[in-house]
Amino acid sequence: MTYMHEHLRVDLSKEKGDRDCLLDDFDAIGQELIGLAKRGLRRIVDVSCRGMGRDYDYLERMERFTGLTILISTGFYKEPFLPKEALEADEKTLTALFISDIRNGCESSNRRAALIGEIGTSLGVMTPAEAKIFRAAAGACRETGVPLSTHTTLGTLGFEQVRFLKQLGVDPSRIIIGHLDLADDLDLIFRVLDEGAYVEFDTIGKITYLSDEKRAAFIQACCNKGYSRQMLLSMDITRLSHLAVNGGPGYAYLVDSFLPRLRVLGVSEEAISDMLERNPDVLLGV
Ligand SMILES: [Zn+2]
Repeated sequence: MTYMHEHLRVDLSKEKGDRDCLLDDFDAIGQELIGLAKRGLRRIVDVSCRGMGRDYDYLERMERFTGLTILISTGFYKEPFLPKEALEADEKTLTALFISDIRNGCESSNRRAALIGEIGTSLGVMTPAEAKIFRAAAGACRETGVPLSTHTTLGTLGFEQVRFLKQLGVDPSRIIIGHLDLADDLDLIFRVLDEGAYVEFDTIGKITYLSDEKRAAFIQACCNKGYSRQMLLSMDITRLSHLAVNGGPGYAYLVDSFLPRLRVLGVSEEAISDMLERNPDVLLGV
């Protein structure tokens, strides 16, 4: 299995003014992941891109500690989390930067980015800086073919994102629209699926935003319509309080608690395997 949208280290604490948003507890995260590896998790895509507090040394130690394969990403997130270099550089420079991360390795590391993302839009609006990053990311995606994964704020603009990227010439089978479950709008999810993009149910366990009962019902409805080959599952753990050791759901919640919920609803083993095994493998070319 692959979790396609996680953060094993992320730092949004300054912008959010909340120490909880510096997720960096190596030992607690590592222990959770070792448990998950025993239950069949093989791979994690870390979508902490440029300016989000990624740390290669930390990720490499985590890989050795857990035995999992950890894939890294390039891109810039969204406002107000964009560093100065993202705001100041033009589109062409940013495209070249992303392509270099994909082909030559990221910054000081020689580790290559396997995905572009998460690149995002704000609540109900795509700011000019965010639009520039989308255009730059689209250029890098067209050039390299690596998947492009987005952040929607509470699911807003999911449809606009996929249309915009398609207009920019991105193959929809390379596009992953993130956090779409949070829009609480099944019709929107179908519209994005009909555009040919992947829909990522990646906030599993974040029940303060949307109940897992509803999330599971959305997934069941999509699987019933035959969309399981365009769906992905993940948890997007971003806070210390999300870890099991701190009373949160923890990374294993998806496998231990959420999959049984899908099975009760009648979601087939084949569909579950599409969402957690086949589709990530197809997207990542592994
Ligand atoms: Zn996100």
